[in-house]
Amino acid sequence: MDRDGTIIEDYEDELWRNKTEPIFLVGSIEALEKIKQKGYEIIILTNQYLIDEKIISIEQYQDFTDKFIKRIKDNGIEILDVFYCPHSRESNCSCMKPKEGLVKKSLEKYPEIDLKDCFIVGDSLCDVELGKRLGIKTFGIGVGKKEGEVIIIDSLGDVASYI
Ligand SMILES: [Mg+2]
Ligand SMILES: [Zn+2]
Repeated sequence: MDRDGTIIEDYEDELWRNKTEPIFLVGSIEALEKIKQKGYEIIILTNQYLIDEKIISIEQYQDFTDKFIKRIKDNGIEILDVFYCPHSRESNCSCMKPKEGLVKKSLEKYPEIDLKDCFIVGDSLCDVELGKRLGIKTFGIGVGKKEGEVIIIDSLGDVASYI
């Protein structure tokens, strides 16, 4: 699952400089709860090129992430893990979505995961593209083209009715 624009508010890159509190999108906490109730674990895969591009510091990222996880936990929901890519867009790293590095890391840490039981959801083309590369059920929030395993939805709240 993507984070920014999927679970919480996303912003123009520059505006992230001053963001200290995640703003949850309407219905997103309930959506996470429903997905968990269906028996899924939730792993966040997030591109954070703002770190290496010096717009936010790693400390800022971590503090923000801690608050993000705590807010969700306060609602009785556990996120299994968060994997992020800190690399700049020019770095050509192997983990920036739509590349598969973050998924590989997830599978190394949680070898019991069977990709064919997983789905991906995000609000950017990179999320949809990653899902297509993996050949798994993919939800594009207002993005992507309905084809193959790709389903276009309006918000995270729509996922539960498809899984
Ligand atoms: Mg996003
Ligand atoms: Zn990376």
